Amino acid sequence: MPPDTKRSRAHLKAQRAELEKLSSRSAGARQTVTLDQQNVGRLSRMDALQQQAMAQATERQRAAEIAKIDAALRRIDDGEYGYCLECGEEIAEKRLEIAPAVALCVRCAGSGEV
Ligand SMILES: [Zn+2]
Repeated sequence: MPPDTKRSRAHLKAQRAELEKLSSRSAGARQTVTLDQQNVGRLSRMDALQQQAMAQATERQRAAEIAKIDAALRRIDDGEYGYCLECGEEIAEKRLEIAPAVALCVRCAGSGEV
C-alpha cells in the first residue's frame, strides 16, 4: 500500500518552511563582510570572512535539503512517492516518517546517507 501522502506532504511542506525561515534569518550573516569591510580591522575581517564562509556552507546545505524536499513533493504529485528510486521497492513507512524526503530504501541507501 502506498504511504499516506497527505501527511507526508504536510510534513515536507513544514520542513521546507522551517528551512526557508532559517535561511532568511541568516541572510544578514552572509552579507556582513561586504557591509562592514571599511570598519573592521584585518583580524576581525578574517573572522568575519570565516563566519561568512560557514554561513554560506550552511546555506548550501539548506538549499540541497530544500531541493530534496521539492523532489519528494514532485514524487507525491507523480504518484511515485514512497518507492525507492534505485530498486523500486516500497520505502518503509517508519523511515518516511522520520525523513519524509528520502528517495532510497534502507538497503539502497546503505550506511551512508539517511
Ligand atoms: Zn532500494
